[in-house]
Amino acid sequence: MGLPHFWHMHACGRCRIPSIRRSYWLVKLQRNRHRDQLTRRKLRALGYDILTIWECQTRDPVKLTQRFARFLNFPPTP
Ligand SMILES: [Zn+2]
Repeated sequence: MGLPHFWHMHACGRCRIPSIRRSYWLVKLQRNRHRDQLTRRKLRALGYDILTIWECQTRDPVKLTQRFARFLNFPPTP
């Protein structure tokens, strides 16, 4: 459902770069992060609002629902 924090290097502290072939992974993952930034920029330029949900943020359904509601400007649930 959400972006996996490993492949996209979410700064949540759960992303661990493998110690084997470390420089390979660093380049690969930083390229992913850079591509994500460019994609977000292009989408904003086209007028889209963007909500990024990370894999690690999908574990709490209440918080996840609140994030969606805020993003969509829904009134808070009682
Ligand atoms: Zn994460």
